[in-house]
Amino acid sequence: MKPELDERYSRQVLFAGIGLNGQKRLIESRVAIVGCGATGSALASLLARAGVGTLRIIDRDYVEASNLQRQTLFDESDAAESLPKAVAACRKIAAMNSQIVAEPHVRDLRPENIDEMLGGVHLILDGTDNFETRYLVNDYAVKNSVSWIYAAAVGSYAITMNVVPGETACLSCIFPQSPTGALETCDTAGILNSAVNFAASVAATEAMKLLTGAKQQLRRTLLSCDLWRNQRAEVSAEKPRADCRTCGQKEFVHLAGIGRPHITLCGRNSVQIHEHDRPIDLSEMSARLQAHGSVRHNDFVLKFWKEPFEMTLFPDGRAIIKGTTDTAVARTLYARYVGS
Ligand SMILES: [Zn+2]
Repeated sequence: MKPELDERYSRQVLFAGIGLNGQKRLIESRVAIVGCGATGSALASLLARAGVGTLRIIDRDYVEASNLQRQTLFDESDAAESLPKAVAACRKIAAMNSQIVAEPHVRDLRPENIDEMLGGVHLILDGTDNFETRYLVNDYAVKNSVSWIYAAAVGSYAITMNVVPGETACLSCIFPQSPTGALETCDTAGILNSAVNFAASVAATEAMKLLTGAKQQLRRTLLSCDLWRNQRAEVSAEKPRADCRTCGQKEFVHLAGIGRPHITLCGRNSVQIHEHDRPIDLSEMSARLQAHGSVRHNDFVLKFWKEPFEMTLFPDGRAIIKGTTDTAVARTLYARYVGS
């Protein structure tokens, strides 16, 4: 280890569970964080400071003012600029630890790009806000024998589970079906920043155990806590279920789900259009849209306001349309102003 690293990580190396060998293993580790909202921010921040050598940050969204209460890697200027979260996160990480590599990927994790996005990492961390992406990650992780850690928070409730393919239960063992019906989300139930950081702290600790090889210390349960109501529950996730569709029968239906429908983002009154893989020149588009409404762009993102809608357009052709939950309306708007 370089002398300057001795000082930076000295208190962590002093901790018997990590030690010098553990620290070296962290530095050699590559970790993907899927989704960089509140949970992803906390995970990325903890692991960057802990010295995980490469962090791959994958996020499709941009920073907004309502994120700042809990998404600790972002500040007011990121929201004012509508910076993509992956880009803003990697800038902050570079400022807190220039000795590690943080790779921003402004992408929506999809079956079509998941090999490229998650290839070569030692561990995948869940910073997403939806079960669709979690099942996709679970399929990939089980198929490729890569560990991943489920983590989520809503209201004052936090939940997390380690998935070590071939050893522990996977997400589908515990939840064979995606929870349906009126799920509470951050947009309906609100969220305490402390609940997010609790879930992320537990998950980041488990990540350090996995990356340093302290497998005997791993928690093998689905842990949930309600920090406001002082409730805590643990369900065993010790063993895979033989009849599990994913890890038992090796049916990877989510990985095969090419051509999925449009996603309606959770309760935010917005629709994402992600089927168009069409590179877009944002300054050219900006000039074109000026006649139709107000428009603003930077290198990463273009915003177009056409009452009552707000469209955010990314260079790969993806768009988030606010002001509707009707996919047909969103599709029409996209076709009219961007192309069909
Ligand atoms: Zn399973």
